[in-house]
Amino acid sequence: MKNSQTLYDQAVKVLPAGVNSPVRAFRSVGGTPIFMEKGEGTYLFDADGNRYLDFCGSWGPLVLGHRHPEVQAAITEVVGRGWTFGTPVKEEVALAQLVADKLDAVEMMRFVNSGTEAVMSAIRLARGTTGRDKILKFRGCYHGHVDYLLVDAGSGLATFGTAASAGVPDAFAELTALAPLDDLEGLQKLFAEIGEQIAAVVIEGVPANNGLLIQSHEYIAGLRRLCDQYGALLIFDEVLAGFRMPEVMAYAHYGVQPDLVCLGKVIGGGMPVGAYGGRAEIMHHIAPLGKVYQAGTLSGNPVAMAAGYATLKAYYEADVPAVIEKLGAYLDPRMEALLADVADLGFIRLGSLFWFYFKRAQAPRTAEAIAAESGEIYGKLHRLMLDRGIYMAPSSYEVGFLNAAMTTTELDMLLDGIKAAVEEGIV
Ligand code: PLP
Repeated sequence: MKNSQTLYDQAVKVLPAGVNSPVRAFRSVGGTPIFMEKGEGTYLFDADGNRYLDFCGSWGPLVLGHRHPEVQAAITEVVGRGWTFGTPVKEEVALAQLVADKLDAVEMMRFVNSGTEAVMSAIRLARGTTGRDKILKFRGCYHGHVDYLLVDAGSGLATFGTAASAGVPDAFAELTALAPLDDLEGLQKLFAEIGEQIAAVVIEGVPANNGLLIQSHEYIAGLRRLCDQYGALLIFDEVLAGFRMPEVMAYAHYGVQPDLVCLGKVIGGGMPVGAYGGRAEIMHHIAPLGKVYQAGTLSGNPVAMAAGYATLKAYYEADVPAVIEKLGAYLDPRMEALLADVADLGFIRLGSLFWFYFKRAQAPRTAEAIAAESGEIYGKLHRLMLDRGIYMAPSSYEVGFLNAAMTTTELDMLLDGIKAAVEEGIV
Protein backbone atom coordinates (compact mmCIF):
# COMPACT_ATOMS: atom_id res chain seq x y z
CA MET A 1 0.00 0.00 0.00
CA LYS A 2 3.02 2.27 -0.35
CA ASN A 3 1.73 4.36 -3.25
CA SER A 4 -1.78 4.71 -1.80
CA GLN A 5 -0.29 5.87 1.48
CA THR A 6 1.96 8.41 -0.25
CA LEU A 7 -0.98 9.75 -2.25
CA TYR A 8 -3.09 9.94 0.88
CA ASP A 9 -0.37 11.84 2.75
CA GLN A 10 -0.29 14.36 -0.09
CA ALA A 11 -4.07 14.47 -0.42
CA VAL A 12 -4.83 15.41 3.17
CA LYS A 13 -2.82 18.60 2.74
CA VAL A 14 -4.99 19.88 -0.08
CA LEU A 15 -8.32 18.03 0.22
CA PRO A 16 -10.27 17.83 3.51
CA ALA A 17 -9.60 14.29 4.84
CA GLY A 18 -7.95 13.60 1.49
CA VAL A 19 -11.24 13.09 -0.33
CA ASN A 20 -13.98 14.82 -2.29
CA SER A 21 -16.88 12.88 -0.75
CA PRO A 22 -16.82 12.09 2.99
CA VAL A 23 -17.48 8.35 3.13
CA ARG A 24 -14.52 7.63 0.85
CA ALA A 25 -12.25 8.64 3.73
CA PHE A 26 -12.70 5.20 5.39
CA ARG A 27 -13.50 6.91 8.71
CA SER A 28 -16.27 4.47 9.57
CA VAL A 29 -14.28 1.31 8.80
CA GLY A 30 -10.84 2.43 9.94
CA GLY A 31 -7.60 2.63 7.98
CA THR A 32 -6.91 4.98 5.09
CA PRO A 33 -8.50 5.05 1.66
CA ILE A 34 -7.12 3.05 -1.21
CA PHE A 35 -6.32 5.04 -4.34
CA MET A 36 -7.60 3.23 -7.40
CA GLU A 37 -6.00 3.54 -10.78
CA LYS A 38 -7.77 1.23 -13.18
CA GLY A 39 -10.98 -0.68 -13.61
CA GLU A 40 -11.62 -3.70 -15.78
CA GLY A 41 -14.85 -5.69 -15.86
CA THR A 42 -15.74 -6.22 -12.24
CA TYR A 43 -12.24 -5.59 -10.88
CA LEU A 44 -10.41 -2.53 -9.59
CA PHE A 45 -6.63 -2.07 -9.53
CA ASP A 46 -5.02 0.24 -6.99
CA ALA A 47 -1.99 2.50 -7.20
CA ASP A 48 0.17 -0.37 -5.92
CA GLY A 49 -1.05 -2.82 -8.54
CA ASN A 50 -3.33 -4.81 -6.19
CA ARG A 51 -6.52 -6.23 -7.67
CA TYR A 52 -9.93 -6.04 -5.95
CA LEU A 53 -13.26 -7.57 -6.78
CA ASP A 54 -15.50 -4.49 -6.84
CA PHE A 55 -18.85 -4.63 -5.03
CA CYS A 56 -19.05 -0.85 -4.81
CA GLY A 57 -19.23 -0.08 -8.53
CA SER A 58 -18.45 3.62 -8.03
CA TRP A 59 -21.45 3.73 -5.66
CA GLY A 60 -23.90 2.53 -8.24
CA PRO A 61 -23.35 3.76 -11.78
CA LEU A 62 -21.39 0.76 -13.08
CA VAL A 63 -24.20 -1.71 -13.63
CA LEU A 64 -22.22 -3.12 -16.58
CA GLY A 65 -18.91 -3.15 -14.71
CA HIS A 66 -15.84 -1.08 -15.54
CA ARG A 67 -14.90 0.00 -19.03
CA HIS A 68 -17.64 -1.77 -20.91
CA PRO A 69 -16.28 -1.74 -24.48
CA GLU A 70 -19.36 -0.11 -26.02
CA VAL A 71 -19.44 2.63 -23.41
CA GLN A 72 -15.73 3.26 -23.80
CA ALA A 73 -16.09 3.41 -27.61
CA ALA A 74 -19.01 5.86 -27.35
CA ILE A 75 -17.05 8.18 -25.04
CA THR A 76 -13.96 8.02 -27.25
CA GLU A 77 -15.96 8.77 -30.39
CA VAL A 78 -17.48 11.94 -28.90
CA VAL A 79 -14.21 13.14 -27.39
CA GLY A 80 -12.67 12.92 -30.86
CA ARG A 81 -15.12 15.64 -31.95
CA GLY A 82 -14.94 17.85 -28.83
CA TRP A 83 -16.48 17.49 -25.40
CA THR A 84 -18.71 20.46 -24.76
CA PHE A 85 -20.42 22.90 -27.07
CA GLY A 86 -22.98 24.65 -24.87
CA THR A 87 -25.63 23.96 -27.49
CA PRO A 88 -28.18 21.20 -27.87
CA VAL A 89 -26.55 17.99 -29.17
CA LYS A 90 -27.91 14.82 -30.72
CA GLU A 91 -26.60 12.69 -27.83
CA GLU A 92 -29.00 14.26 -25.32
CA VAL A 93 -31.95 13.70 -27.65
CA ALA A 94 -30.97 10.04 -28.09
CA LEU A 95 -30.69 9.43 -24.35
CA ALA A 96 -33.94 11.27 -23.60
CA GLN A 97 -35.79 9.29 -26.29
CA LEU A 98 -34.47 6.01 -24.95
CA VAL A 99 -35.46 6.86 -21.37
CA ALA A 100 -38.91 8.12 -22.40
CA ASP A 101 -39.42 5.01 -24.48
CA LYS A 102 -38.50 2.64 -21.64
CA LEU A 103 -39.87 4.40 -18.54
CA ASP A 104 -43.61 4.93 -18.67
CA ALA A 105 -43.50 7.45 -15.81
CA VAL A 106 -41.11 9.72 -17.71
CA GLU A 107 -42.65 11.43 -20.70
CA MET A 108 -40.21 14.35 -20.63
CA MET A 109 -37.03 14.96 -18.66
CA ARG A 110 -34.33 17.53 -17.96
CA PHE A 111 -30.71 16.43 -17.59
CA VAL A 112 -28.53 17.81 -14.80
CA ASN A 113 -25.08 16.88 -13.50
CA SER A 114 -25.70 14.88 -10.32
CA GLY A 115 -28.34 13.08 -8.33
CA THR A 116 -28.37 15.92 -5.83
CA GLU A 117 -29.28 18.38 -8.56
CA ALA A 118 -31.96 16.06 -9.89
CA VAL A 119 -33.76 15.90 -6.55
CA MET A 120 -33.26 19.59 -5.79
CA SER A 121 -34.70 20.55 -9.17
CA ALA A 122 -37.61 18.10 -8.96
CA ILE A 123 -38.58 19.62 -5.62
CA ARG A 124 -38.43 23.14 -7.02
CA LEU A 125 -40.62 21.98 -9.89
CA ALA A 126 -43.10 20.39 -7.46
CA ARG A 127 -43.22 23.58 -5.41
CA GLY A 128 -43.63 25.70 -8.52
CA THR A 129 -46.38 23.44 -9.83
CA THR A 130 -48.40 23.11 -6.63
CA GLY A 131 -47.76 26.56 -5.15
CA ARG A 132 -46.98 24.88 -1.80
CA ASP A 133 -43.69 25.12 0.12
CA LYS A 134 -43.44 22.13 2.45
CA ILE A 135 -41.96 18.82 1.51
CA LEU A 136 -42.04 15.49 3.23
CA LYS A 137 -39.15 13.05 3.35
CA PHE A 138 -38.56 9.80 5.19
CA ARG A 139 -36.25 9.03 8.07
CA GLY A 140 -33.38 6.97 6.74
CA CYS A 141 -33.62 8.19 3.14
CA TYR A 142 -30.79 10.13 1.49
CA HIS A 143 -31.35 12.41 -1.46
CA GLY A 144 -28.00 14.13 -1.89
CA HIS A 145 -26.63 17.13 -0.06
CA VAL A 146 -29.51 19.52 -0.72
CA ASP A 147 -29.87 21.93 2.24
CA TYR A 148 -33.47 21.18 3.14
CA LEU A 149 -33.02 17.41 2.68
CA LEU A 150 -30.18 17.20 5.18
CA VAL A 151 -32.54 17.07 8.11
CA ASP A 152 -32.60 14.94 11.20
CA ALA A 153 -35.51 13.19 12.75
CA GLY A 154 -36.95 14.79 15.84
CA SER A 155 -39.28 12.82 18.07
CA GLY A 156 -42.99 12.67 17.42
CA LEU A 157 -44.70 12.42 14.10
CA ALA A 158 -45.26 15.86 12.71
CA THR A 159 -41.90 17.23 13.70
CA PHE A 160 -40.35 19.45 11.16
CA GLY A 161 -36.71 18.89 10.61
CA THR A 162 -33.67 20.29 12.28
CA ALA A 163 -30.52 20.61 10.24
CA ALA A 164 -28.30 17.52 10.15
CA SER A 165 -25.37 19.52 8.85
CA ALA A 166 -23.76 22.72 9.99
CA GLY A 167 -24.39 25.42 7.46
CA VAL A 168 -28.04 24.53 6.87
CA PRO A 169 -30.24 27.29 8.30
CA ASP A 170 -33.06 26.01 10.50
CA ALA A 171 -35.40 28.06 8.35
CA PHE A 172 -34.63 25.72 5.43
CA ALA A 173 -34.88 22.54 7.48
CA GLU A 174 -38.21 23.67 8.87
CA LEU A 175 -39.74 23.38 5.44
CA THR A 176 -39.13 19.63 5.56
CA ALA A 177 -41.35 17.24 7.48
CA LEU A 178 -40.05 13.81 8.39
CA ALA A 179 -42.15 10.71 8.02
CA PRO A 180 -41.58 7.20 9.32
CA LEU A 181 -40.80 4.39 6.90
CA ASP A 182 -42.86 1.21 7.20
CA ASP A 183 -45.62 2.84 9.27
CA LEU A 184 -48.73 3.61 7.26
CA GLU A 185 -50.70 4.66 10.29
CA GLY A 186 -48.03 7.18 11.25
CA LEU A 187 -48.00 8.47 7.71
CA GLN A 188 -51.77 8.86 7.70
CA LYS A 189 -51.64 10.89 10.92
CA LEU A 190 -48.94 13.10 9.47
CA PHE A 191 -50.95 13.74 6.32
CA ALA A 192 -54.04 14.51 8.41
CA GLU A 193 -52.05 17.23 10.17
CA ILE A 194 -50.11 18.83 7.34
CA GLY A 195 -51.09 17.06 4.11
CA GLU A 196 -52.62 20.15 2.55
CA GLN A 197 -49.38 22.12 2.92
CA ILE A 198 -47.20 19.52 1.23
CA ALA A 199 -45.94 20.23 -2.28
CA ALA A 200 -44.19 16.89 -2.65
CA VAL A 201 -43.29 13.72 -0.89
CA VAL A 202 -39.87 12.44 -1.83
CA ILE A 203 -38.90 8.83 -1.17
CA GLU A 204 -36.00 6.71 -2.32
CA GLY A 205 -37.44 4.19 -4.77
CA VAL A 206 -35.93 1.57 -2.50
CA PRO A 207 -34.26 3.15 0.53
CA ALA A 208 -30.67 2.03 0.09
CA ASN A 209 -28.47 4.65 1.74
CA ASN A 210 -29.06 3.58 5.31
CA GLY A 211 -28.96 -0.13 4.75
CA LEU A 212 -31.38 -1.69 2.30
CA LEU A 213 -34.75 -0.87 3.87
CA ILE A 214 -37.14 -2.62 1.52
CA GLN A 215 -40.68 -1.32 2.01
CA SER A 216 -43.87 -3.32 1.68
CA HIS A 217 -46.09 -2.93 -1.37
CA GLU A 218 -48.95 -1.90 0.95
CA TYR A 219 -46.93 0.92 2.39
CA ILE A 220 -45.95 2.36 -0.98
CA ALA A 221 -49.49 1.96 -2.32
CA GLY A 222 -50.76 3.74 0.80
CA LEU A 223 -48.31 6.56 0.23
CA ARG A 224 -49.54 7.00 -3.35
CA ARG A 225 -53.14 7.13 -2.12
CA LEU A 226 -52.36 9.74 0.52
CA CYS A 227 -50.52 11.94 -1.99
CA ASP A 228 -53.56 11.79 -4.30
CA GLN A 229 -55.95 12.52 -1.47
CA TYR A 230 -54.04 15.61 -0.30
CA GLY A 231 -52.86 16.90 -3.68
CA ALA A 232 -49.14 16.38 -3.01
CA LEU A 233 -46.86 15.24 -5.81
CA LEU A 234 -45.04 11.95 -5.29
CA ILE A 235 -41.36 12.03 -6.24
CA PHE A 236 -39.55 8.72 -6.57
CA ASP A 237 -35.84 9.33 -6.12
CA GLU A 238 -34.45 6.50 -8.22
CA VAL A 239 -30.93 7.89 -8.43
CA LEU A 240 -29.69 4.70 -6.79
CA ALA A 241 -32.50 2.17 -7.31
CA GLY A 242 -33.22 3.00 -10.94
CA PHE A 243 -32.04 0.33 -13.42
CA ARG A 244 -31.17 -1.91 -10.49
CA MET A 245 -34.50 -3.62 -9.92
CA PRO A 246 -35.79 -6.84 -11.50
CA GLU A 247 -38.49 -4.59 -13.03
CA VAL A 248 -35.82 -2.00 -13.96
CA MET A 249 -37.34 0.75 -11.80
CA ALA A 250 -38.49 0.72 -8.19
CA TYR A 251 -41.81 2.35 -9.08
CA ALA A 252 -42.46 -0.57 -11.43
CA HIS A 253 -41.42 -3.00 -8.68
CA TYR A 254 -44.10 -1.49 -6.45
CA GLY A 255 -46.62 -1.03 -9.24
CA VAL A 256 -47.21 2.67 -8.55
CA GLN A 257 -46.92 5.65 -10.83
CA PRO A 258 -44.95 8.56 -9.32
CA ASP A 259 -45.52 12.13 -10.51
CA LEU A 260 -41.81 12.80 -10.89
CA VAL A 261 -38.81 10.48 -11.07
CA CYS A 262 -35.22 11.44 -10.24
CA LEU A 263 -32.46 9.57 -12.01
CA GLY A 264 -28.67 9.50 -11.68
CA LYS A 265 -25.81 7.04 -11.40
CA VAL A 266 -26.60 4.34 -14.06
CA ILE A 267 -28.16 6.89 -16.41
CA GLY A 268 -24.76 8.52 -16.85
CA GLY A 269 -22.84 5.26 -17.12
CA GLY A 270 -20.19 6.65 -14.75
CA MET A 271 -20.21 10.26 -15.97
CA PRO A 272 -21.68 13.06 -13.85
CA VAL A 273 -25.33 12.90 -14.93
CA GLY A 274 -28.66 13.24 -13.19
CA ALA A 275 -32.15 13.75 -14.59
CA TYR A 276 -35.64 14.47 -13.41
CA GLY A 277 -38.70 13.73 -15.41
CA GLY A 278 -42.37 12.95 -15.43
CA ARG A 279 -45.57 13.80 -17.22
CA ALA A 280 -45.31 16.49 -19.92
CA GLU A 281 -47.96 18.58 -18.20
CA ILE A 282 -45.70 18.92 -15.12
CA MET A 283 -42.45 19.26 -17.07
CA HIS A 284 -43.96 22.16 -19.04
CA HIS A 285 -43.57 24.28 -15.91
CA ILE A 286 -39.78 24.32 -16.40
CA ALA A 287 -38.13 27.40 -17.93
CA PRO A 288 -38.24 28.53 -20.65
CA LEU A 289 -41.69 26.94 -21.12
CA GLY A 290 -42.78 27.76 -17.58
CA LYS A 291 -41.78 29.78 -14.56
CA VAL A 292 -39.62 27.24 -12.70
CA TYR A 293 -36.01 28.19 -13.39
CA GLN A 294 -33.30 25.57 -13.63
CA ALA A 295 -30.16 25.56 -15.77
CA GLY A 296 -26.65 24.12 -16.14
CA THR A 297 -23.51 25.01 -18.11
CA LEU A 298 -22.57 21.38 -18.71
CA SER A 299 -26.05 19.82 -18.50
CA GLY A 300 -26.63 17.45 -21.43
CA ASN A 301 -22.90 17.34 -22.06
CA PRO A 302 -22.30 15.13 -25.13
CA VAL A 303 -19.65 12.89 -23.54
CA ALA A 304 -21.83 12.19 -20.52
CA MET A 305 -24.94 11.70 -22.66
CA ALA A 306 -23.13 9.28 -24.97
CA ALA A 307 -21.87 7.29 -21.98
CA GLY A 308 -25.38 7.11 -20.57
CA TYR A 309 -26.93 6.14 -23.88
CA ALA A 310 -24.35 3.41 -24.56
CA THR A 311 -24.84 2.08 -21.02
CA LEU A 312 -28.62 1.90 -21.26
CA LYS A 313 -28.52 0.48 -24.80
CA ALA A 314 -26.18 -2.31 -23.66
CA TYR A 315 -28.30 -2.75 -20.50
CA TYR A 316 -31.47 -3.42 -22.48
CA GLU A 317 -29.75 -5.45 -25.21
CA ALA A 318 -28.18 -7.77 -22.65
CA ASP A 319 -31.35 -7.82 -20.53
CA VAL A 320 -29.29 -6.94 -17.49
CA PRO A 321 -32.17 -7.41 -15.01
CA ALA A 322 -32.41 -11.05 -16.15
CA VAL A 323 -28.62 -11.46 -15.95
CA ILE A 324 -28.70 -10.13 -12.39
CA GLU A 325 -31.56 -12.41 -11.35
CA LYS A 326 -29.54 -15.36 -12.65
CA LEU A 327 -26.62 -14.29 -10.46
CA GLY A 328 -29.06 -13.85 -7.58
CA ALA A 329 -30.47 -17.34 -8.11
CA TYR A 330 -26.94 -18.64 -7.60
CA LEU A 331 -26.03 -16.37 -4.71
CA ASP A 332 -29.20 -16.30 -2.56
CA PRO A 333 -29.59 -19.98 -1.68
CA ARG A 334 -25.85 -20.40 -1.06
CA MET A 335 -25.74 -17.37 1.20
CA GLU A 336 -28.87 -18.56 2.97
CA ALA A 337 -27.32 -21.99 3.58
CA LEU A 338 -24.09 -20.42 4.78
CA LEU A 339 -25.90 -18.17 7.24
CA ALA A 340 -28.55 -20.66 8.36
CA ASP A 341 -26.91 -21.10 11.75
CA VAL A 342 -25.43 -17.63 12.06
CA ALA A 343 -27.87 -15.67 14.17
CA ASP A 344 -26.04 -12.35 14.02
CA LEU A 345 -25.64 -11.94 10.28
CA GLY A 346 -28.38 -11.59 7.67
CA PHE A 347 -28.24 -11.04 3.93
CA ILE A 348 -30.86 -9.40 1.77
CA ARG A 349 -30.92 -8.71 -1.97
CA LEU A 350 -33.24 -6.91 -4.33
CA GLY A 351 -32.14 -6.77 -7.96
CA SER A 352 -28.50 -5.78 -8.09
CA LEU A 353 -28.52 -4.32 -4.55
CA PHE A 354 -27.58 -6.35 -1.51
CA TRP A 355 -26.88 -5.68 2.14
CA PHE A 356 -25.55 -7.48 5.20
CA TYR A 357 -27.34 -6.67 8.45
CA PHE A 358 -26.28 -7.63 11.95
CA LYS A 359 -27.91 -8.90 15.13
CA ARG A 360 -31.45 -8.91 13.80
CA ALA A 361 -33.67 -11.87 13.00
CA GLN A 362 -35.43 -9.97 10.21
CA ALA A 363 -34.12 -7.50 7.65
CA PRO A 364 -34.74 -4.00 9.09
CA ARG A 365 -37.29 -1.81 7.31
CA THR A 366 -36.48 1.36 9.20
CA ALA A 367 -33.22 3.05 10.10
CA GLU A 368 -34.17 2.77 13.78
CA ALA A 369 -34.29 -1.03 13.52
CA ILE A 370 -30.62 -1.30 12.52
CA ALA A 371 -28.45 -2.64 15.36
CA ALA A 372 -26.22 0.00 16.96
CA GLU A 373 -23.20 -2.32 16.80
CA SER A 374 -23.44 -2.63 13.01
CA GLY A 375 -20.73 -0.09 12.25
CA GLU A 376 -18.18 -1.80 14.44
CA ILE A 377 -18.89 -5.30 13.12
CA TYR A 378 -18.94 -4.09 9.53
CA GLY A 379 -15.56 -2.42 10.03
CA LYS A 380 -14.05 -5.82 10.84
CA LEU A 381 -15.84 -7.49 7.94
CA HIS A 382 -14.66 -4.76 5.58
CA ARG A 383 -11.04 -5.26 6.64
CA LEU A 384 -11.27 -9.04 6.21
CA MET A 385 -12.77 -8.62 2.74
CA LEU A 386 -10.10 -6.11 1.71
CA ASP A 387 -7.41 -8.55 2.81
CA ARG A 388 -9.04 -11.11 0.51
CA GLY A 389 -9.08 -8.68 -2.42
CA ILE A 390 -12.75 -7.72 -2.15
CA TYR A 391 -13.71 -4.06 -2.21
CA MET A 392 -16.98 -3.25 -0.46
CA ALA A 393 -18.25 0.24 0.31
CA PRO A 394 -16.42 1.62 3.37
CA SER A 395 -19.55 2.02 5.53
CA SER A 396 -22.09 -0.34 7.05
CA TYR A 397 -24.88 1.92 5.81
CA GLU A 398 -23.99 1.34 2.20
CA VAL A 399 -25.37 -1.44 0.06
CA GLY A 400 -23.36 -3.75 -2.18
CA PHE A 401 -23.80 -3.66 -5.93
CA LEU A 402 -23.83 -6.59 -8.31
CA ASN A 403 -23.04 -5.93 -11.96
CA ALA A 404 -23.51 -7.69 -15.26
CA ALA A 405 -19.78 -8.40 -15.64
CA MET A 406 -19.87 -10.72 -12.62
CA THR A 407 -19.97 -14.48 -12.87
CA THR A 408 -20.36 -17.24 -10.32
CA THR A 409 -16.57 -17.00 -9.75
CA GLU A 410 -17.02 -13.58 -8.17
CA LEU A 411 -20.06 -14.68 -6.18
CA ASP A 412 -18.03 -17.59 -4.84
CA MET A 413 -15.36 -15.12 -3.72
CA LEU A 414 -18.00 -13.22 -1.76
CA LEU A 415 -19.38 -16.43 -0.27
CA ASP A 416 -15.86 -17.57 0.70
CA GLY A 417 -15.22 -14.20 2.33
CA ILE A 418 -18.38 -14.45 4.42
CA LYS A 419 -17.52 -18.04 5.34
CA ALA A 420 -14.12 -16.86 6.57
CA ALA A 421 -15.74 -14.02 8.55
CA VAL A 422 -18.04 -16.53 10.26
CA GLU A 423 -15.16 -18.92 10.96
CA GLU A 424 -13.06 -16.09 12.42
CA GLY A 425 -15.93 -15.09 14.69
CA ILE A 426 -16.33 -11.62 13.19
CA VAL A 427 -20.08 -12.18 12.90
N1 PLP B 1 -30.47 10.27 -4.23
C1 PLP B 1 -30.07 9.03 -3.91
C2 PLP B 1 -31.12 7.99 -3.64
C3 PLP B 1 -28.73 8.71 -3.82
O1 PLP B 1 -28.36 7.47 -3.48
C4 PLP B 1 -27.78 9.72 -4.06
C5 PLP B 1 -26.34 9.44 -3.93
O2 PLP B 1 -25.91 8.45 -3.43
C6 PLP B 1 -28.23 10.99 -4.40
C7 PLP B 1 -29.58 11.24 -4.49
C8 PLP B 1 -27.25 12.08 -4.69
O3 PLP B 1 -26.61 11.82 -5.91
P1 PLP B 1 -25.19 12.50 -6.21
O4 PLP B 1 -24.22 11.93 -5.26
O5 PLP B 1 -24.93 12.14 -7.65
O6 PLP B 1 -25.37 13.96 -6.04
